[in-house]
Amino acid sequence: MIVRARLHAARHPATPPGPRPGPGPGAGGPGQRPGPGGTPPRPPAPGWRRWLLPGAVLVTLMLLVLFSNPGKTGARYGYTDFLNRVDAGQVQTVDVTDTGGVSGVLKDGTRFTSQIPTALDTSQLSHALSDQHVNVTATRSSGGGSIWSTLLLFLPLLIFGGLFLWSGRMAARSLGGGLSAIGRSRAKIIEAERPSTGFADVAGYEGVKQEVSEVVDFLRSPERYAAAGAKGPRGVIMVGPPGTGKTLLARAVAGEASVPFLSVTGSGFVEMFVGVGASRVRDLFEEARKRAPSIIFIDEIDAVGGRRAGGSRIGGNDEREQTLNQLLSEMDGFDQSTGIVVIAATNRPDALDPALLRPGRFDRQVTVPLPNQAERAAILAVHTRGKTLGPDTDLDRIARGTPGFSGADLANLVNEAAINAVRADRATITAADLDDARDRVLLGRRESSNALLPEERHAVAVHESGHALMAALCEHADPVAKVTILPAGVALGATEQLPEAERHLYSEGYLTDLLTVQLGGRAAELVVFGEGSTGAANDLANATSVATRMVREFGLSPELGPVGYSSGSSQYLGDHPEDLLRRPYSEQTQRAVDEAVAGLLRGAERRAVELLREHRHHLDELAALLVAQETVDGKVVLRILKQPAPEPHPELRPEPRPELRPEP
Ligand code: ADP
Ligand code: ZN
Ligand code: MG
Repeated sequence: MIVRARLHAARHPATPPGPRPGPGPGAGGPGQRPGPGGTPPRPPAPGWRRWLLPGAVLVTLMLLVLFSNPGKTGARYGYTDFLNRVDAGQVQTVDVTDTGGVSGVLKDGTRFTSQIPTALDTSQLSHALSDQHVNVTATRSSGGGSIWSTLLLFLPLLIFGGLFLWSGRMAARSLGGGLSAIGRSRAKIIEAERPSTGFADVAGYEGVKQEVSEVVDFLRSPERYAAAGAKGPRGVIMVGPPGTGKTLLARAVAGEASVPFLSVTGSGFVEMFVGVGASRVRDLFEEARKRAPSIIFIDEIDAVGGRRAGGSRIGGNDEREQTLNQLLSEMDGFDQSTGIVVIAATNRPDALDPALLRPGRFDRQVTVPLPNQAERAAILAVHTRGKTLGPDTDLDRIARGTPGFSGADLANLVNEAAINAVRADRATITAADLDDARDRVLLGRRESSNALLPEERHAVAVHESGHALMAALCEHADPVAKVTILPAGVALGATEQLPEAERHLYSEGYLTDLLTVQLGGRAAELVVFGEGSTGAANDLANATSVATRMVREFGLSPELGPVGYSSGSSQYLGDHPEDLLRRPYSEQTQRAVDEAVAGLLRGAERRAVELLREHRHHLDELAALLVAQETVDGKVVLRILKQPAPEPHPELRPEPRPELRPEP
């Protein structure tokens, strides 16, 4: 492969300046539609809300003023004055409250008020009133009437306050719950369903299916286990790289056993507030007990089940530890006869707390590896089931060309192929669709707009021809399937090799040929142009990593001899860069390793240059053909070399693409 140079990183903006999606035609106006993928539309912010409190206070004050001065216009007399007027016979009626408040009307119609000094003897007033035949009534001042009027006064305040609280609650609810909703919103976190997925939907993985079929058996009739005094499985942990179908398998178990499937992801437990995760775990198991027999599925369990800090770390993750502890105690606590099985999935088994893996908890570990070639073909078959395939399609061939693909990658590949067919206005998926989809998944999108300069096209053609000829000329190398100078992703061109069968063991001869093929591109540039270019960067990086492993791990260099410093990196985590810092050998050994690696690479380059000098006319012929045709089939390469197509060896069959971790 030849790669685009990345010397001017600033010239390649991360996001292409494309037209921004604006509101579609006919949209009422900006801001009326939520953007695609945006947050759910918020309710209109109640603007009236902030006027509620001031309004309530204002109305109450107005009422207070009105009621406390209830229109009793008229004179206010002192007690003596009042008594004199009664004696003088001017008073027509009086109304007396039990606290001595007086309001009345004079004979001339004037209203007045007064106050009787209740602390003194007021019998004189009583006599005067009866002597003058004044009409006397009595009211209770501090009685019911005044309570009602007080209530009436504060009614608006109450109503406004209620409105305020209510609108606040509505807003909080539509925003996904305020503080009060934390820890209670389990409906969103725990999903219960009865999947219709079965083992037939999971291609391959017969061994894995067999292991989990015991769980199915137990869930179908837990009482049978109880009768025999046998303990059923409690927890199964599925371990494997992403996209290998762990979630799919767990659903299939629930489908086969026809029991409810409660699924959560590990990160769903982890909240900002200590104790929330633990209460969610409790809820989860409670829910499962209600629906037993049932399956609890915890995806990405490493988010909660990671190793607990030894207490030495300051500010350890309290919340996560509490959640994990709750999970452990729930798993210990549930009654075996209820028929609950916990299935968990992770791609980082080494990060799990050992307490989780103890017998009685997740006592069964099932490894779900990347699919092998036959399984890849089966997965492709499952995903092409409802689709029409052209007569020229060969799923086995696709499976051969996709080592290292996970089930999810393959599902994606089939979908891309179907999209290709739709774009070309076809209902049938052809072999070319599948091939294109594979290239796209492997290399990235093809950019027809990104045309190369004529001299660049020639350079790319020479580079790829070098790879192709090396692959055809080296005895142990995987045969060439296709050479292309169509740019795709970061690749300006690519040489595709197709192993005939999946290889599990790589010989020294294979690895040496692999290095030669990888350096073939650069060697061709050296032979034709007399100088290298930036295009070989990716080839060199791949070749160096293979050579380093040959020297350090596989004992394949005469200088170091049979030593193997395993990097010890997890097969799921990829490479740890820090392992290179913690190397288990001395500086001197490091230098020897470096020299041995450089020696291997230089040897491979020398070999490639020599071979290409010998075949210079073939190199020129193939490069010219590539410039003219852009894509050349592997058979054409062999024809150019005047070689008959090699018979596939029955026993010793070639290997997958070398870059994909040659692991013994
Ligand atoms: P994981 O949980 O291991 O990351 P998933 O179960 O989510 O992977 O798998 C993702 C998708 O890949 C599935 O929905 C399915 O379409 C596809 N897939 C993976 N493995 C298989 C398989 N063995 N058979 C059929 N489809 C598979
Ligand atoms: Zn290359
Ligand atoms: Mg998953």
